[in-house]
Amino acid sequence: MTIDLAEEELELSAMVREFADTVVAPQAYEADRTHTLSMEVVAQMGDLGLFGLPFPEDVGGQGGDYMALCLAIEALGRVDQSIAITLEAGVSLGAMPIFRFGSDEQRSEHLPDLLAGRALAGFGLTEPEAGSDAGATRTTARLDGDEWVIDGSKQFITNSGTPITRFVTVTAVTGSADGRKEISTIMVPNGTPGFAVEPAYDKVGWHASDTHPLTFDGVRVPAENLVGERGSGFKNFLSILDEGRIAIAALSAGAAEGCLEAAVDYAKSRTVFGAALSTRQNAQFTLARMRARVHTARLAWHHAARLRDAGKPFAEAAAIAKLTAGDAAMDNARDATQIFGGNGFMNEFAVGRHYRDSKILEIGEGTTEVQLLVIARGLGLM
Ligand SMILES: Cc1cc2nc3c(=O)[nH]c(=O)nc-3n(C[C@H](O)[C@H](O)[C@H](O)COP(=O)(O)OP(=O)(O)OC[C@H]3O[C@@H](n4cnc5c(N)ncnc54)[C@H](O)[C@@H]3O)c2cc1C
Repeated sequence: MTIDLAEEELELSAMVREFADTVVAPQAYEADRTHTLSMEVVAQMGDLGLFGLPFPEDVGGQGGDYMALCLAIEALGRVDQSIAITLEAGVSLGAMPIFRFGSDEQRSEHLPDLLAGRALAGFGLTEPEAGSDAGATRTTARLDGDEWVIDGSKQFITNSGTPITRFVTVTAVTGSADGRKEISTIMVPNGTPGFAVEPAYDKVGWHASDTHPLTFDGVRVPAENLVGERGSGFKNFLSILDEGRIAIAALSAGAAEGCLEAAVDYAKSRTVFGAALSTRQNAQFTLARMRARVHTARLAWHHAARLRDAGKPFAEAAAIAKLTAGDAAMDNARDATQIFGGNGFMNEFAVGRHYRDSKILEIGEGTTEVQLLVIARGLGLM
């Protein structure tokens, strides 16, 4: 640990690490190979209270904060990024929009199950023509009597097609105001006629995470499925993404640490030219650099999480954390794979999986370039 953590934070982190080592890690290879999200592991995470960590007890949460959530995600990311992103997306993209912007009815109907891991929800922002430029949304929703009629598509939506996915909250253009698009967010329950969860993607990594394209063809949902005020959807979703970047940074720091631990162990046990690989200065320097990256990544996300939990501005710190930690994960995965030699290229070793999985950490919830734009804006350059 790098920033002083309270006793209960250390206990939480240790508890999730134990769960990660004993329950999550043993299934990770097979889940990756078969592209299967273990609903058993999801249920166990629910029983441990992980989905409710950053929510108050009166809505069914654990009464913790974002730091607590991120500690859990970091501990899981160390051994299995697919499971870690399932929790990250389930909480910060699935439940958080309902908690922050939902009506009393939406909160009481959905939060108890979302926060217990009995249900999952997706967050549908990205479209084929609207990724980094999320405001380019083309999906539309028009009011017809007391129903929204939704047409369009979304792509790359996490947790949108699991057996327990209840709904996806989507952004849609609901009109225009002052010559600008009015974007709102609307909950679309899975199974609504005209709403299709298309077959899962064949991804480079995160094989056991559930990701689908979604299509909406004249989908009708009640007017009260609007989440938050009409026209506030874009602003609300961007604030959700700012927070989510801290969680992705924590996941990345965990992945970077998992790679470091595996590489240290391997370098000690592998003999090359009559001596342990770990005695070669090249390996020592590589491992030392990996250690420094884990430290820096963790400092960066801890700082952003503390700012967020203190109610202070955190968008720039979150962007720096995601940038730093995403790079740390990718760099450590590459270095760990190199330390492992040919074995690094074999899927049975976790470092190869981290190598495939880590690339998305530089892309999802805002690419590296988008983080740089946020940081450049803070410098007054745009
Ligand atoms: C596995 C996975 C899960 C995902 N889960 C979700 C989800 O649950 N919900 C959701 O809504 N989305 C999700 N996404 C989408 C993800 O957030 C987007 O892929 C990401 O934001 C990038 O958008 P894009 O793919 O359209 O790339 P583009 O925006 O087309 O970017 C292409 C390249 O251009 C660069 N670029 C773009 N604009 C600029 C600029 N102004 N200046 C410099 N460079 C620029 C980008 O950095 C990138 O390198 C997921 C994606 C993946 C792969």
